[in-house]
Formats: sequence, structure tokens, C-alpha cells
Amino acid sequence: MSCIEQRGTTLGAMLLSQRTRIQHCRACGTAVAYRVPPDDNRERAICGRCGHIQYENPLNVVGTVPVWEDKVLLCRRNIEPRHGFWTLPAGFLELGETTAHGALRETDEEAGALIELGPLFSLLNVVQVGQVHLFYLATLKSDVFHPGPETIEARLFAEHEIPWDELAFRTVKVTLQHFFECRRVGQFALHCSDIG
Ligand code: ZN
Repeated sequence: MSCIEQRGTTLGAMLLSQRTRIQHCRACGTAVAYRVPPDDNRERAICGRCGHIQYENPLNVVGTVPVWEDKVLLCRRNIEPRHGFWTLPAGFLELGETTAHGALRETDEEAGALIELGPLFSLLNVVQVGQVHLFYLATLKSDVFHPGPETIEARLFAEHEIPWDELAFRTVKVTLQHFFECRRVGQFALHCSDIG
């Protein structure tokens, strides 16, 4: 899709600086070395003292496309990265949550918006930064929002008002483009793609 080629930042970029290679053992604090464990096929951070192996796996980012009449709710970020840019409400899935619960929680935390969750709408692999982004369709129950500290402003946008050049992340742009395409044809289908 052409939208994949557009410039922008992925939500995953926030982890680029954080997901540097592991330096120390989580169990005992000794410096680790990267090598392939027996019966494995890739390098892992292995402790030279206690032998603990630290596995690193992709993180899930979950969010929603909250809709009120013909408008979509966006949040203006009050945190880095991409401070001041607009995003769909989304964030990292927590342990103990389903993806649906995480999407609901993030929508509440970032926008203070009451929603009814709909079906999964986009699944985007952001392999470069080790993340999978999942957005659900959602229907807003109210157009009154109470944004949390991570959000400067939460407001509704009609399609012609979307600040395409001020969107924080490529996965948000791809999801919004897909949303408006689906609405034009009157059929909402799950979109899966890889953000390279
Ligand atoms: Zn150790």
C-alpha cells in the first residue's frame, strides 16, 4: 500500500533508545554476554555467573479508533516521543490484560473517553522495533472527554480535518487511512500489514 511508504514515526520508535542490548543479568546483576544457548538458534543475553538467560520478545501496543457520528477522536501527546503530535489512543499492553482490555484502558487513560469496543480493525507488525500494534474500532458513548496527564488535548476530527502531517506515528496514519477507505465503501474489514 502506498500509505506504508509515507514518512512518519512509528509508535515503536519510542523504544529504539530503550531497547538497547541488555548489559546486566536480571537475576544477579553480573555483566551478560550475547551467545547462542544450547538447542537454541539465536543469540541471547546470558549471565556468565549464574547462567540466567534473558529472552527478549516483541511488545504489543493496543489502541482504538473511537468514533462519534462522522468524527474520530485523536489525542495530542503531552509526552515524548512526538510531543505535541496527534495520535489515536494507544499504549503498551500490560501483563494480565487481554488486548481488548488494554485498548479500553488506554482509551480511558489517554482520552478519558467512554467507549463501546468494536472488532479488531488493524494489526501492524513493526518488526524494526520489535512491536505489534493492534487497533480496535470503538463507538464513543459521549463527546465529553477527560484527558489524562499524557494528553494535551483530546478532540474529534472529521476526515477533512485530520492533521495528516501532524500525526505522531505511521501505524496511526495507516489505521486512519484504512478507516476512511472502509467508511467510503461501507464495509469495515481487518487490515494487516507490515510497517517497514
Ligand atoms: Zn546472573
